[in-house]
Amino acid sequence: MAVLTDKTALVTGASRGIGRAIAERLAANGALVGVHYGSNDAAAKEVVATIERAGGQAFPIHAELGIEGDVATLFAGLEAGLGGKPLDILVNNAAISDGTPFEHVTPEWFDRSFAVNVRAPFFIVQRAAGMLADGGRIINISSAVTRIASQFVHYAMTKGAIEVMSHTLAQALGSRGITVNTVSPGVVNTDMGSWIHSAPGIEEAVVHNIAMGRVGQPNDIADVVGFLASDDGRWITGATIDASGGHWLGPNMS
Ligand code: NAP
Repeated sequence: MAVLTDKTALVTGASRGIGRAIAERLAANGALVGVHYGSNDAAAKEVVATIERAGGQAFPIHAELGIEGDVATLFAGLEAGLGGKPLDILVNNAAISDGTPFEHVTPEWFDRSFAVNVRAPFFIVQRAAGMLADGGRIINISSAVTRIASQFVHYAMTKGAIEVMSHTLAQALGSRGITVNTVSPGVVNTDMGSWIHSAPGIEEAVVHNIAMGRVGQPNDIADVVGFLASDDGRWITGATIDASGGHWLGPNMS
């Protein structure tokens, strides 16, 4: 029997990139997965179709995050798809980062970043807490930018908030057997990570500072989430797990 048979999951931002890989991984492990997306209907349907072709179960949920009524829309879609089943696994993965450097961030973009990356996950967790089964899982996706200084100050601040939220919630939800953890990727080969291809030499310079000698792939992150979501991850809570392949562990003298 697959390790997540009879479990249910919601993965936000699952139409592409890391969220897609997480949705496919949880479904391959037996979970019924809500594939949430913001705008790309075709991509989300393709993720659901891929999961179903592989023998898994999934349904799409459309809800733009960061706007009024976002959480209500998301949970209407989730509850319809779950058909009365409780939620076992919540993965807050959706986020935005357009690479705007510190000096060009406007108040509007700052607010939008916090609305999508912080306010939405907070209220998603608040709403999910009531329907999460005892023994459930909350897994929030942060970033190595909380550890490695960059020019993306506002984005790093949103991820810092996510890590604090996870740690604090772990204490509050532990009595129900619900674990709350953060997974922090380094550079991953997705649309968001495509800046490494924006000029010659950037990828090489980045990889020079990754101990494992390559950028991450979405499955590298999905496998960590799969572990935390499984019963094997039951004794880890309140943790931030670095899944960066050892990005910027120290000066690389070679
Ligand atoms: P991505 O390729 O840009 O995909 C983002 C996903 O989030 C898409 O499914 C998108 O849906 C959804 N989304 C974005 N804004 C949304 C909104 N306002 N409302 C609803 N859905 C929205 O991102 P990724 O690289 O896979 O990143 C996933 C997570 O990993 C994020 O939390 C990110 O901060 C983190 N991370 C990424 C990297 C990296 O190098 N890639 C590194 C560290 C951390 P639609 O396309 O349908 O709108």
